[in-house]
Amino acid sequence: AGIPHVHVALKETEQVTPEIVKKAIAENPDATHFSVVHCETTTGILNPVADLAPIVKGAGLTLIVDAMSSFGGIPIDIRGLGIDFLISSANKCIQGVPGFCFVIARRSELEKCKGVSRSLSLDIYDQWETMEKGGGKWRFTSPTHVVRAFFQALQELKAEGGVAARYARYRENHDTLVKGMREAGFRTLLADDIQSPIITSFLYPSADFDFADFYEKLKAEGFVIYPGKISEADTFRIGNIGDVFPADFRRLTDIVRTL
Ligand SMILES: *Cc1c(COP(=O)(O)O)cnc(C)c1O
Repeated sequence: AGIPHVHVALKETEQVTPEIVKKAIAENPDATHFSVVHCETTTGILNPVADLAPIVKGAGLTLIVDAMSSFGGIPIDIRGLGIDFLISSANKCIQGVPGFCFVIARRSELEKCKGVSRSLSLDIYDQWETMEKGGGKWRFTSPTHVVRAFFQALQELKAEGGVAARYARYRENHDTLVKGMREAGFRTLLADDIQSPIITSFLYPSADFDFADFYEKLKAEGFVIYPGKISEADTFRIGNIGDVFPADFRRLTDIVRTL
């Protein structure tokens, strides 16, 4: 989009730490905004947003958090942390269907976005203004079915006991998965202390591991997993969000043990 920016490049398996953020801000005194991914879905790293936010806000920067794969499944104190823009989507931890994303914004910051966007379709101010003036109307064709599904998903989130209860279930899913995979001889890519409860990367158990064969065998049993996406190691990923429960992960790892 031609926006001047500094990319603070880390290793794929490295967590964003308060030290890294302090250094980046000190090296870029002209910076006005800071953006970070909460749960990094390619590896499964969970970045410590609660530890980073005070540094960013203390330096007077606008804080943007990509919470695509965490919002709804991991508690986030948006107001308390002073997050200015939090971005998420209908189809991750809210457990709706794909079709739209949404932004939770500080109104005073949103108001500064008028006429700023370089993109027609991603003009958040214009979208907001249209919704405010048009009784919730989308600027373009409203994704009606997706919004209805989102409404249902929110009811289900509430019925489950809210974000705290969903977080507890995802944690148990994750713990069940990792325990069972370790018993089956697999190792996780990341250390437990930087691992999110959302998606987990596992290392290939041997150099001749046949991922395609492993994938097909699990698929035949009703489980679809993800290939790895990182360059540092041969990995595959298993997600544990959605309408899935610890018993599903016990069944999965019982099958993995027989392969
Ligand atoms: C899934 C994901 C995206 C993309 O979300 P879509 O719903 O596919 O648009 C972006 N960032 C992160 C961290 C994600 O997990």
